[in-house]
Amino acid sequence: MNVCEIFPTILGESSRSGYPVVLVRLAGCNLRCRYCDTAYAYSGGQELPLPEIAGQIRGLGISLVLITGGEPLLQAETPALIEALLDSGFTILVETNGSLPISTIDPRAVIILDQKCPGSGMSDRMDPANLDLIRPHDEIKFVLYDSDDYSFARDLVSKKNLARRSQVIFSPVHGFLPPQTLAEWILRDRLPVRLGIQLHHHIRVK
Ligand code: SF4
Repeated sequence: MNVCEIFPTILGESSRSGYPVVLVRLAGCNLRCRYCDTAYAYSGGQELPLPEIAGQIRGLGISLVLITGGEPLLQAETPALIEALLDSGFTILVETNGSLPISTIDPRAVIILDQKCPGSGMSDRMDPANLDLIRPHDEIKFVLYDSDDYSFARDLVSKKNLARRSQVIFSPVHGFLPPQTLAEWILRDRLPVRLGIQLHHHIRVK
């Protein structure tokens, strides 16, 4: 597999934000979001066999693992890595950009589906079937760039009844949409969604 980096850190996003986690960042991404903060993962990386990756993760002594990218589902061996880690007792979070089918992911894993909004420039690249496959223990994350993104996300949550089917997180793009503004919009509309602040922009642990 092509690996960008593996390191212990504090989880910066999702409902488990704040917990120690092993972050496994796989190399390569098929999207180019306007606000991407991990462009260094687009190319490069180190070719490592699956047992070597699993061994490195085990050696870090943390039971929560986030598999992310880039886009982790681009690599054919990712489902096997997820399954192997689950079989070893790890709790696995898989963060995917929503453009590829999530049906390949072991149902024991927690999917964090990054549903792209128009401000990313990538919203037309989503696989629409994914939102129908999402389960109660999964999470749908909307990263919001501006008020148009907020309206888009709010309407999609309502149309697909997402907040009753899964956890929904609205997260402002750091440096563009103030969290205070997003909080006021969520309260104004009485939306049953979680405000997510990207912790990794406030603390660097690596
Ligand atoms: S999907 Fe993620 S890694 Fe890929 S371009 Fe968008 S923000 Fe960057």
